[in-house]
Amino acid sequence: MSERDLVYDSLVKIVGKDFVSNEPEDLYLYSRDLGAQPPRKVDYVVMPKTVEQVQKIVMLANKRKIPITPMGSGLTVSGLAVPVKGGIVLDMKRMDRIIEVNEKNKYAIVEAGVTQGALKSYLEKHYPHLQHSTPEAPPTATIAGNVLIHGHGHLTPSHGANSRMINGMEVVLPTGEICKIGSCSVSAYWFTRESLPDLAGLFIGWYGTTGIITKISIQLFPKPMFRDLVVFLAEDPDVLPEMVFGVFQAELAENFFVIAQDKPDWMFGRTYVVIITTGHSKDELESKKAKLRDMFDTRVKVAEQIPPSLKERYLEVPPFAATQADFAKGGGFEYNGCLLPMDRIPEAWRRGLEIARKHNVAFSFGLQALDCGHSAMCGPVYSFNRADEESVKKVREALDESSKLVLELGGLLWKAAIPGQRLMMHRMDPNTLELMRRIRRVLDPNGIMNPGNWEE
Ligand SMILES: Cc1cc2nc3c(=O)[nH]c(=O)nc-3n(C[C@H](O)[C@H](O)[C@H](O)COP(=O)(O)OP(=O)(O)OC[C@H]3O[C@@H](n4cnc5c(N)ncnc54)[C@H](O)[C@@H]3O)c2cc1C
Repeated sequence: MSERDLVYDSLVKIVGKDFVSNEPEDLYLYSRDLGAQPPRKVDYVVMPKTVEQVQKIVMLANKRKIPITPMGSGLTVSGLAVPVKGGIVLDMKRMDRIIEVNEKNKYAIVEAGVTQGALKSYLEKHYPHLQHSTPEAPPTATIAGNVLIHGHGHLTPSHGANSRMINGMEVVLPTGEICKIGSCSVSAYWFTRESLPDLAGLFIGWYGTTGIITKISIQLFPKPMFRDLVVFLAEDPDVLPEMVFGVFQAELAENFFVIAQDKPDWMFGRTYVVIITTGHSKDELESKKAKLRDMFDTRVKVAEQIPPSLKERYLEVPPFAATQADFAKGGGFEYNGCLLPMDRIPEAWRRGLEIARKHNVAFSFGLQALDCGHSAMCGPVYSFNRADEESVKKVREALDESSKLVLELGGLLWKAAIPGQRLMMHRMDPNTLELMRRIRRVLDPNGIMNPGNWEE
């Protein structure tokens, strides 16, 4: 029997034949994502249902030294769940149980395949006074995939990155041990990861290169009764850091984001600043809106005319994505999310727009204040038409140029594709880089976990 058949048969024994494939038409789907990274080879796709199955798959991969790439919904658009060196894609979607909502202690324990949409609608139905921080990503994106890449949602501006909202996790290590992280390693409550050594850091931001998370506890927050937004037009990006500072100093915002794009025509040349504010009563909400309207000097004007559909959308989720990809023509998009210190925002904004215009690519340019204004997520979203190789090439060039700009300005690339990871590693303190290598060698002695990521 060939090695390929042997591995296939072993996988079938673990999860059943309906949940393994090495058929070209299935592998095709897993060999690419929405973004501009070129497609890559995949050998098997497996969909486990239980942690024991994950464990057996990992032990098989470890014994036979087969690369294994965990995948939630594969929506990073930077190819992070597309294997670089072939092997198994471990699609977690069947692990979709919401195990517990602990109302009094405000957390939910979910399996790794639970999606944003599933948790949101479950909470709306059963716990309408609670919410989790929801990204703008499609509702099929997983909670685990999002928090593990330091994702951001509608509560990130006021509470910090979604990864901070992890209370604990269950992990299958690359050598097959099942391990608990946070208070759940000691207690029945998955309520905090504080007070113990913070081992969660061994798995967050590593892009599946250190283990497979099978369960996660995520913090829930009170849902305010009333929410609304005030939209401003800012002519000059120099005002943005002051605006962010003022709004969070006065505790007036749940969310703060900025958006500029050349299309549709009515948005051309304008920078929209959207501030979402909340209240426990209508009066509180109205008083906060009034304060916001009076807060800024003449460089910022209140935009009274916002189409109701846009208003509804802005209130639903923070907008950070391209709306310009022409999917009917096989379109796609990729974005350079990056974290920047607040004081570099005006320069990043100006030069980022220049790069988009220079490469003549359709773009939207966004910013979201993070963690009460301690930093900002900022970046251009470039759209392309996949059928037109020239447009993909232009987007890759624009991404490369804006990645370099971010690092020049002292920022960090977020959920960076391989070229961006390498740019950061080249700048990294050599001892930090060596520490990362050592951690991986210890956890994953056979180098099977999503190899090619965080490697030079
Ligand atoms: C239109 C659009 C809008 C978006 N807007 C936002 C936004 O507002 N905020 C935001 O944060 N993101 C956004 N994104 C980016 C991305 O889609 C989300 O962050 C999404 O939540 C990632 O989840 P996923 O399930 O797709 O993760 P995946 O892409 O499947 O995985 C992400 C990484 O984590 C690893 N991984 C996944 N599951 C596991 C696991 N169980 N164990 C170990 N490693 C694992 C993967 O190997 C990969 O490296 C957007 C994307 C799109 C397409």
